[in-house]
Amino acid sequence: MYDSPKLLGLRKELINNLIKKGINNKNILEAFLKVPRHLFIHKDFESFAYKDEAFPIDENQTISQPFTVAFQTHLLNVKKGDKILEIGTGSGFQSAVLVFLGADVYTIERNHSLFRSTSKLFKKLNINPIKFKYGDGYEGLIDDSPFDGIIVTAGSPSVPENLLKQLKIGGRMVIPIGKDTQVMNKITRISINDFKKETFGYFKFVPMLDKKD
Ligand code: SAH
Repeated sequence: MYDSPKLLGLRKELINNLIKKGINNKNILEAFLKVPRHLFIHKDFESFAYKDEAFPIDENQTISQPFTVAFQTHLLNVKKGDKILEIGTGSGFQSAVLVFLGADVYTIERNHSLFRSTSKLFKKLNINPIKFKYGDGYEGLIDDSPFDGIIVTAGSPSVPENLLKQLKIGGRMVIPIGKDTQVMNKITRISINDFKKETFGYFKFVPMLDKKD
């Protein structure tokens, strides 16, 4: 795995930056130290990997901004052994952070080219989600449900009903809702039929695409 003292230094700067922005969960900060974000973007741009910015990856998609990954992960409240479903694997960076935190990760990507390249990267870096599925995130993974947490990393116009049904009681879904910009929502299932909704400010994601898109 390619790394260097310079890249490690940049990674530490990024972590200080995240601390300044209010991320104080030690496990999440450690994950950002251990997961080499530069390997998840194009090699020619590796020094951009440690700016706190989203960055283009293939297929017109983006790797989420580091703060956004840290913040969504914090809201998800991941404990070792939690079963977590991620929608929108993309570069695989968010999945890698979840694996590092000790979660059992199930992740879905609907773009076949990204699915193939990220599958290869996971193998190369020995990052092992329990399941990496090429498919439609709106459907979730009924056979593997229920989940302790569901994290959606693309902007969804509304809360997908199927995904709500796949949460355990006490399970959390962290999902950006909206078209051009999104409001970060955390939805907690408090009983079979009751959900608690909290919101956490504005973010900007690529859209969660529907079958017809
Ligand atoms: N978690 C990613 C973020 C990638 S951007 C990372 O850390 O890099 C969002 C991703 O969601 C894109 O790869 C896009 O192809 C994917 N996506 C969009 N709509 C989807 C859907 N309906 N089901 C699954 N993935 C979807």
